[in-house]
Amino acid sequence: MNLKKKVLSVSLSSLLALGAVSAVAIPVGAVGEGPGAGNGSIQTSILHTYESMVDYLKTQDGKQEAMELEVIGQTVKGRDIYLAKYISNPNNPTILFLTQQHGNEQLTTEGALEFIKHLGTNKTKSVLDNVNIMVIPMLNADGAMGDVNFSLDNYLADGDRHLTRYNANEVDLNREHAKATSDMEVEVKALHENVFEKYEIDYMIDLHHQGTTSQTEGELVSGSILHPTNSQVKPEVLEGSKKLGAVVYNAIETTGWGHIGKYNGGSGENIGRNGAAVRYDISTLLFEMRGMSDHYIESYALGQKSNGYLIRQTITTLDSAVRAIADGSIESADTSFWDTLPTQASRPGEESDE
Ligand SMILES: [Zn+2]
Repeated sequence: MNLKKKVLSVSLSSLLALGAVSAVAIPVGAVGEGPGAGNGSIQTSILHTYESMVDYLKTQDGKQEAMELEVIGQTVKGRDIYLAKYISNPNNPTILFLTQQHGNEQLTTEGALEFIKHLGTNKTKSVLDNVNIMVIPMLNADGAMGDVNFSLDNYLADGDRHLTRYNANEVDLNREHAKATSDMEVEVKALHENVFEKYEIDYMIDLHHQGTTSQTEGELVSGSILHPTNSQVKPEVLEGSKKLGAVVYNAIETTGWGHIGKYNGGSGENIGRNGAAVRYDISTLLFEMRGMSDHYIESYALGQKSNGYLIRQTITTLDSAVRAIADGSIESADTSFWDTLPTQASRPGEESDE
């Protein structure tokens, strides 16, 4: 071995030991061909806690003139639910990014927080003049913190907490959206009464994670997308959703590491993607990233190696959406890809669950 090679291999292995490579180099196929089914090494210490997320938001709010932080309500356990908003002109088109209706789907929140930091840099200043951006990170903070009224003993993650899909009352928040607001769980009630009903929202991306073994054309997906599929959604609302999907699809597929499928989701109005479109005429897009942060079924939970890619996938998604809305290019987005986008299927032993 010559000296140069040796130095290179040493520095590469020390980088790997530090886990630094995922943040730097993204080889082709890295998301899809990262760790396979859950490897049991999910470490919650790499994730924000609710408290550290709130600190982060307050720090950014202090630094960013354009940002405003609002509390839209409280969780069952009394945690404030935060909305970060950038509203430069009420007449601008408005997009809402929603994360962690399901508490065990946290990398989307990590990406959303990073995106909020990006919005404070000069790079995105002109964007903010032409689009209003709203971000609700961690709607289900009780589930994310494992502070719930049922046992999580059989969950897999290592660290100081478990994360669960459900809220503290063991209710799936993404099945609450067809109810009268008075009958909703408090987290969803806050979302409807203090966000959907209060602001003129044109677009929403509802960010989730699915299991690790979904594929199209024999290749594991890095994520899958879906527009609303309820028959009561107005044609123009659906068209806006498909355009939003086109923008995101093009941004992810051209990264070299992303592979996007069509999600196989239900048509019920109780699902946020459908309910927000039917009730408020919001053009919605579901994005289901690969791999959950914690679960009791091993193949649902993703280990550490792909975290960097999935966080980056979230940032790419949010960034591409706001840019296309701000410059108006979303209006001419070609939606024909939806007709040929393959619907994902799961490798044996797993079901999808939006
Ligand atoms: Zn979910």
